[in-house]
Formats: sequence, structure tokens, C-alpha cells
Amino acid sequence: MTILNELSAVELRDRITGGEIKSVDAAEAVFQAIAAWDPFLHAYNSTFRESTLRGAEKIDRDRAAGKKPGLLSGVPIAIKDNICTTFGTTTCSSKMLADFRSPYNASVVEKLQNAGALIVGKTNLDEFAMGSSTENSAFGPTHNPWNTRRVPGGSSGGSAAATAAGLCSAALGSDTGGSIRQPASLCGIVGLKPTYGLVSRYGLVAFASSLDQIGPLARTVADAALLLQVIAGHDPRDSTSWPEPSDDYLSELEKPLEEVRLGLPEEFTGEGVDAEVASAVRTAVEFYRAQGAKIVPVSLPHTRYGIAAYYVIAPAEAASNLARYDGVHYGHRAAHPEDLYDLYAASRAQGFGPEVQRRIMLGTYALSAGYYDAYYLRALKVRQLIKHDFDEAFQQCDFIACPTSPTVAFELGAKSGDPLRMYLCDVFTVTCNIAGIPGMNIPCGFSSDGLPIGLQLLGPIFSERRMLRLARQYEKNHDWHKRRPQPPAAEPRHKQPD
Ligand code: GLN
Repeated sequence: MTILNELSAVELRDRITGGEIKSVDAAEAVFQAIAAWDPFLHAYNSTFRESTLRGAEKIDRDRAAGKKPGLLSGVPIAIKDNICTTFGTTTCSSKMLADFRSPYNASVVEKLQNAGALIVGKTNLDEFAMGSSTENSAFGPTHNPWNTRRVPGGSSGGSAAATAAGLCSAALGSDTGGSIRQPASLCGIVGLKPTYGLVSRYGLVAFASSLDQIGPLARTVADAALLLQVIAGHDPRDSTSWPEPSDDYLSELEKPLEEVRLGLPEEFTGEGVDAEVASAVRTAVEFYRAQGAKIVPVSLPHTRYGIAAYYVIAPAEAASNLARYDGVHYGHRAAHPEDLYDLYAASRAQGFGPEVQRRIMLGTYALSAGYYDAYYLRALKVRQLIKHDFDEAFQQCDFIACPTSPTVAFELGAKSGDPLRMYLCDVFTVTCNIAGIPGMNIPCGFSSDGLPIGLQLLGPIFSERRMLRLARQYEKNHDWHKRRPQPPAAEPRHKQPD
């Protein structure tokens, strides 16, 4: 267990390829950690012990035979359960797809496997990635490893909890309005949402296609860069994939940025932000100032419409994408329908949970004749204004710094009865998807009750290479990322209530 909890993906890979650690031993250690800890967390929907161990044996054999190792040789990786794999199921944490077996692998899964990664399991999420706490999973919530009475964030809560707790070296998530960055923030790890089009969406179950991106969750900036290196790049099977070759995210990672201008948006502070979150983010910005960054105030005036626009655009696209679940082509099929209409209605009513149904209704309403102009079209206009805000801001600064989440991890159940309060968790993350730009979370402190706080960096399209260097510069001078949550056995028997 300690092997993985202490080593980063890069270190583990280096030790496996250098022969100091056997891939099989590393894989065994992951499954031991999962057996010990996941009953308390429920980070995984399914795990693949046999295939992982077989893969690990092959890595060890290939090494002995002198074969050239891949970038992720022997590294145990978890995959969000809305990314298709031919092995196991791809459930989207929905009853609708509880038994769904994909006939193909997502491009990102192929790329990971070609790089030597071992796919250890599929992680829990809010049903169809709709949520900010992983409580919307049809299979029960994931718990935060720092405090199991708290949520891990969402919707990639399983990937974030598994990575934070050392139940994998790193993971993939998807981010439509914050679902990589916000759980990374609440679990104290690094999470990166790439520029729209940088990573192939082929094999990602669609939620809102103009916003969805796959990206890495990892314990260090270098690990996030390593995963991005492997998964980025053009894919002819995704028509929105960017046709140019991707950057090299690893080669200059250790080199601090020179003369960086860091923008502080006035709209991203103030009301609704925990005092401890605001203070940790301010301290992080001061660090950059002390390192020579120029801090420039910027304004993103349309940010205040971000949540409203997002919660029209995302449900509208979702309503259309989820129309394919009709009980005929895919997924759950209701028994004994009276007629075809009843088959559709009953299959969908039984297969989809309450939040997914709410989104479908919101989206259908926003797209319907008579309301299209008032809601959907208007939201698209706001989208342009938000994009324009960022274009203007990036004339004055190279990157923007702000909180990822206005609060630290909240109690399970605290917001699940109040959708609007839950939607407000995404206030700092949705504009990044709306504009298609990259954003990442890095750990930047802890609250007085020991919960992680995250700093969000936002940059212009395709600025990942420099953004990762900026993040690494912070990480190198702090040790937040070295703190790890303790497994249950190590917790005091009589825990103080918090
Ligand atoms: N919390 C947001 C939502 O519920 C974002 C989800 C996501 O990024 N997948 O839509």
C-alpha cells in the first residue's frame, strides 16, 4: 500500500522500468489498498484485478526481454465510468446502462494501454456526469478520503477520491462544467481540463458535446503532464478534435515561467467564497508575486451569467444526447410495455434518476418552439460574451488565478435536496468550458478542519504547456501535495466530531 501512496506515477514508472519494483508487486499493492479502503469510499464501480495482474506480468516479462518501455509502463490508472472500455461495463453510474458493455474502447483508453498503463477499474460519478458531489450516482455516493462524511466533489468524484487515497496512481475524468477541477480541489489533488478539442472524446459517453473534455486527475503536476502527454492529440474519429500535433508537456516542466502576468478577476472573489478559501488563494497569488509575476486586475463582467447560461446549454445538449436511450437501441428496457410509447416512457422513467430527468426536462423546455429564442439562443449569445471577456482579459495577462470551488468539501446530503445550491458549486468552473479554454486545479492549502483548498489557473486555448510549468513552479515551493489522507485503519478509533 505504501508504495503507491508515497510514489508519484512518474516515480513508480521509473522504478518499474529501472527494475527496482516489479509491476506485479505494484499492482498487488493497489488492489490491497482498494480492498482496505474502498469499502469506506466507494470510489470504484468495478475493478479489474485479473487483467491488471496479467498486464503487469507482461510488463515485467517485456522488461526482462529488454523491450522498450512505454511512458506509463506498469502505472495503475483508474477510468471514470462514462469512458468506454471493451472490458467490464461502462455504466455512467446509471441504472440505464447498469449492464452496458461497450463494443469498443475510447481513444484515450487505447492510448493509455499503448503507453503501458494498467487500467485497474472504473470509477463512480454523478449519473451521466450530472452533478457536483457524486451523490447522484445510482449506485450510491463516493466519500471524501479526507473525511468520509464529506462529499468528494463531482462529477468525477470516484476518480478524485481514488487518486487522493492512493487506490490508483492517477485517473481520467471528464469535465463539462468543472467535473475534473472541482473534485480535484475537494480531494486535494491536481486536475486538468484541457482546451476543447485537445483530447479525443471518441468513446466518452456524451453529456453536453460542445463542453465535454476528458482530462487527468493526479497527485502531482508532473503526473498530470505525463497523462496529458499520452492522451492529447488529433483523432480522426472525433470530428471536433484539433488537427494539429499536440505540445510536449514534459520537456520544460521544471523551468519556471519568466515575466508572467497573472490576472486576478474581480468577479471571482467576494460573496459566497469561504474566508479560508479566499485567504489561501490570496496567499498563492502572493507567492507568484514574490517569484516575479506581475499581478494584474482583470474583469470578466459576464461571469455572473455563467451559471445561468451553462444550465441552459448543458441540459439542452444533454436532452438531445440522451434521446438515444429509448429502451430499444441501448440500455434498460422496461418489461411488459402496453405499446411503443409506453416502452419509451417506462424505460426512461425507470432507467434515469431524478437529476438526469430534471436536466432532460430543462433542456427540452429550453429547446422547445416558443422558448428556443428566449432561453437557448440567448444562452448562446451569453456564451459569445463570456468568450469575449476571456479574449480581452488574455490581452492583459497570461493566466488567470482564482478559487476552483467557493467552499471546501461539504457534508454528504447538505445540498442534495436543493439543485440550485448544488449548481452554484460550479460558479468558478463553468466559464472555462463555455469558452473552451484550459483550466486546472492545484492544491493550495487546507481549512482549519483539515480539508483541502484548491487554486484554479485558467489560460488561453492551447496554453497547457505553459500552464503546467506555472503550476509546477507553485508545487515545487510548497508541500500541500505531499500530505495524504490516512486510511481508516490509521484513524483514531474515537473520532472527534468536526
Ligand atoms: N456540476 C456540473 C453539472 O452538474 C458539471 C458537471 C460536469 O462537469 N460533468 O453539470
